[in-house]
Amino acid sequence: MKREIIAGNWKMNCTKAETVELIEKLLPLVGDPGKMEVVICVPFTNIDAARKALRGHKSIALGAQNVHWAPKGAFTGEISAEMLKALKVKYVIIGHSERRQYFGETDQSVNARMKAAVAAGLKVIVCVGETLEEREAGKTREVLLRQTSAAFEGIDKSALKQIVIAYEPVWAIGTGKTATPKEANTAAFVIRKALRKQYGRTPAHAMRVQYGGSMNASNVKELMAMPQIDGGLIGGASLKPAEFAKIVHYTEL
Ligand code: PEP
Repeated sequence: MKREIIAGNWKMNCTKAETVELIEKLLPLVGDPGKMEVVICVPFTNIDAARKALRGHKSIALGAQNVHWAPKGAFTGEISAEMLKALKVKYVIIGHSERRQYFGETDQSVNARMKAAVAAGLKVIVCVGETLEEREAGKTREVLLRQTSAAFEGIDKSALKQIVIAYEPVWAIGTGKTATPKEANTAAFVIRKALRKQYGRTPAHAMRVQYGGSMNASNVKELMAMPQIDGGLIGGASLKPAEFAKIVHYTEL
């Protein structure tokens, strides 16, 4: 039985003080998440404050939203895997569509960041997903196979347990539009197909695939009921403590 994982992507939101305030509201609402793995991915500047606010609480793990591929050097504005490790960060999101869309992230840079992150012992949430244009052109499958294979190129089978994949259709992120459970399930199946080709059936099946894209307390249950979906990556709703806690405890809804 795979452990399900709900992760919040706070994106570029909250000051240090607001981060602490949000975590203080979230902790009692999340309470004991049972078998659910819960992660919040905060901006770099708030990692230390979040770590302190989460200290002593095993219910929520800490994540970042990007990592550079080089260990150090002349890369102005970037953050290395070792820097994140030093702040006790457990997870890092890589290849989010907003990075691909606005900051020139490519399949190759996603792969380079993945390699650096897993080598440093970080856990990775790697995002893949098609744009609306690609979906309408019937290219969803092709895009998912390409992005997944490229992201995992050169990643050893032994590192797979450190990696979670988020299927995030770009047209569903922050738009209020959600993929239907069937669409999400089919996409996760295609992602696993790419993994199966590279690693074989059992390792591909053992990997966790999240759905992301306007997931909320109203649609979480039907999405999580899909056999290929093992969790959620939540943007907007992760900034609302009561909503996020409901998503974590979706089985009780
Ligand atoms: C995301 O940014 O990963 C995301 C899924 O955002 P939202 O839930 O707001 O669509």
